[in-house]
Amino acid sequence: MAQKADGSFNNIGRIVIMYKAEEVVGIAIVCSDPRANLWKRVKQVVIPHGRIYVPISVLGGPISLVYPQELNLDHHTLLGQIHFALSGFPHTAEILSVTHDCGYYEKMGKNPGLQTKKEDAGRISAFIKAHFDLQVRSLFADDQESERFEEIR
Ligand SMILES: [Zn+2]
Repeated sequence: MAQKADGSFNNIGRIVIMYKAEEVVGIAIVCSDPRANLWKRVKQVVIPHGRIYVPISVLGGPISLVYPQELNLDHHTLLGQIHFALSGFPHTAEILSVTHDCGYYEKMGKNPGLQTKKEDAGRISAFIKAHFDLQVRSLFADDQESERFEEIR
């Protein structure tokens, strides 16, 4: 950002675009751990060019959806975020769940292996399908290769 003579700021060399509610066609729930950089990776690699998704970026991403007891507050907060996004963006057709080898399990005193985390990705997908009448896609992000996402069914 650079400050102009009148005191305002502009972004040199960057294009900032804003969107209308009807252009928003999906919701992406991702972990906000900056080391994994999931939202940026998902935007660049997964979401088709020109399609606009609402990011719901929280530590742990969507895992609280399938741990309603252990992560009770996160569970209800995330559900509230999804419901609010759906009411504000009625053209939403898909919920994209993105998980990875997440450290948030430590909050529950758990340290599961990759296999359990991938199984949880499938449970998350089933949970979302059971609660929302939308297309659901569940991806497990590779923490070594930035463009690699495993489709979980
Ligand atoms: Zn994480």
